[in-house]
Amino acid sequence: MTEKVIIIGSGPAGLTAAIYIARSNLQPLLFEGFQSGGIPGGQLMITNEVENFPGFPEGILGPQLMANMREQAIKHGTRMVMEDIANTDFSSRPFKITTTSGEVYEADSIIIASGATARRLPLDSEKRLWGRGISACATCDGALPVFRNKELAVLGGGDTAVEEAVHLTQFASKVYLIHRRDELRASKIMQKRALEHPKIEILWNKTVEEFLGELKVEALSLRDVTTGELSRLPIAGVFEAIGHVPNVSFLKGQITTDELGYIKTIPGTPRTNIDGVFAAGDVQDHTYRQAISAAGSGCMAAIEVERWLQK
Ligand SMILES: Cc1cc2nc3c(=O)[nH]c(=O)nc-3n(C[C@H](O)[C@H](O)[C@H](O)COP(=O)(O)OP(=O)(O)OC[C@H]3O[C@@H](n4cnc5c(N)ncnc54)[C@H](O)[C@@H]3O)c2cc1C
Repeated sequence: MTEKVIIIGSGPAGLTAAIYIARSNLQPLLFEGFQSGGIPGGQLMITNEVENFPGFPEGILGPQLMANMREQAIKHGTRMVMEDIANTDFSSRPFKITTTSGEVYEADSIIIASGATARRLPLDSEKRLWGRGISACATCDGALPVFRNKELAVLGGGDTAVEEAVHLTQFASKVYLIHRRDELRASKIMQKRALEHPKIEILWNKTVEEFLGELKVEALSLRDVTTGELSRLPIAGVFEAIGHVPNVSFLKGQITTDELGYIKTIPGTPRTNIDGVFAAGDVQDHTYRQAISAAGSGCMAAIEVERWLQK
């Protein structure tokens, strides 16, 4: 049987696309993912309070928001499969996709909403304290009361790290930008912003050896990469800004991506270089990376698919 639409990914982009497509009576089949690119429900499953998703004035827990979206998608007729996609074949029609268990599905159109994975430091202490003062998103979590008027740290040296540090200065009493090199990778204009900001102090040539704290992060153990010396930096929160990896390995290079690996869409649309294959959410967006922007682009992809199928 050939599906009309297959959606890959169950984050805000995939589930929003599913709600719209299901309501158009197109019975989408959605692959929720399992392990290869995050988890079913996507990135919001690893956060606590979401305070900026419209419609929830008191905030909502990330996993609860995703459970609500999933329920809404199923209610309107989406069929879910909790599996990862391992392979795609867009060379002929209908398109073919293969799951990690080897099952092959066929579809007239595909929406790729497989998101991106935030890079994290591979430390046991990071895993233990994740979500307890450690986050991968200052735009999302920086305004939470636990971080207000406190000394915070951002890890990284690129544009995102500087942006996050500058963003945090609105709430924090001081922001340490911790970078493993002796110069920032960020663009000149962003570097200037960090260097001249009265609330930002850059700690050069430092790597995090360990996150310290019992129930929440309280300090960082830092290693100076030039001298090898260890030091302790008390902080109330840490934001890792060491990059994201778009989840595109299953595409095996069949869709055009940019130099960072993100799917290239025709500007202002969710269309990819292959007619009938659309992309939504973080997998095609390294600029905004928010649940609401992902959901918005999922809606756009759904409307485009519907029009494309009618044609
Ligand atoms: C710690 C943290 C806190 C955040 N807090 C906020 C916040 O407060 N507010 C906000 O607006 N945004 C927040 N964000 C950002 C937000 O989570 C993302 O922008 C949003 O989830 C992107 O949605 P998406 O649907 O594009 O992708 P994702 O949420 O990344 O979902 C991708 C989906 O694709 C699936 N998938 C991946 N590979 C495969 C595969 N091979 N086969 C099948 N499925 C696959 C995954 O399992 C997952 O279901 C936060 C992010 C992080 C990391």
